[in-house]
Amino acid sequence: MCTRCPLAATRTQVVFGAGDPSADLMFVGEAPGFHEDKNGVPFVGQAGKLLETLLNGVGLSRTDVYIANVLKCRPPGNRDPQPEEIEACESHLFRQIELIRPTLVATLGNFATKLLSGKPTGITRVHGVPQLVALGGNEVTLYPLFHPAAALYTRSMLSVLEEDFRRIPELLGLTTVVPEPDAFELEAEPELERPLEPAVQLGLF
Ligand code: URA
Repeated sequence: MCTRCPLAATRTQVVFGAGDPSADLMFVGEAPGFHEDKNGVPFVGQAGKLLETLLNGVGLSRTDVYIANVLKCRPPGNRDPQPEEIEACESHLFRQIELIRPTLVATLGNFATKLLSGKPTGITRVHGVPQLVALGGNEVTLYPLFHPAAALYTRSMLSVLEEDFRRIPELLGLTTVVPEPDAFELEAEPELERPLEPAVQLGLF
């Protein structure tokens, strides 16, 4: 087991990641908390429940995606990850991305966003703005989102997170927005979103 940083001495177990190893969508959070450390699975506490609800809201479930964290071991008392810990741990995450080869990586909160964008710009400025980055030898769309744990405490952040989540199917290429009908087509079907391909062909369900 990994002993690259001092968190090895205080963790119960390594929380490597969970979900579909060939998922198109990967989430990257911050670090395991109390429940994750006990269970060995990421996002199983309150923040995890919210993440699951948000996923369900866009027609996805935990088993359709892969979920990991910047740090694989719990920082004592859930304190922020330290720069030395991130540095010691980041190659595990980069290797995960290389193996899973997602097309869309949704970073949850500041730590994952800054690490994977390679930029210091904070989540408040970049949330909801997809950016193309090279990760694990592939070009992927990075999609920064507020951390669900933060959204649990701030209602306005929750609304923004829900709104940003609504773009995920489009970013996965599952749906496309059909423009408003013009004056000549007012009798047309009132449908706003149209699936491009059956989801089953994309291996998501
Ligand atoms: N918060 C995180 O960032 N990761 C988890 O696994 C749980 C809570």
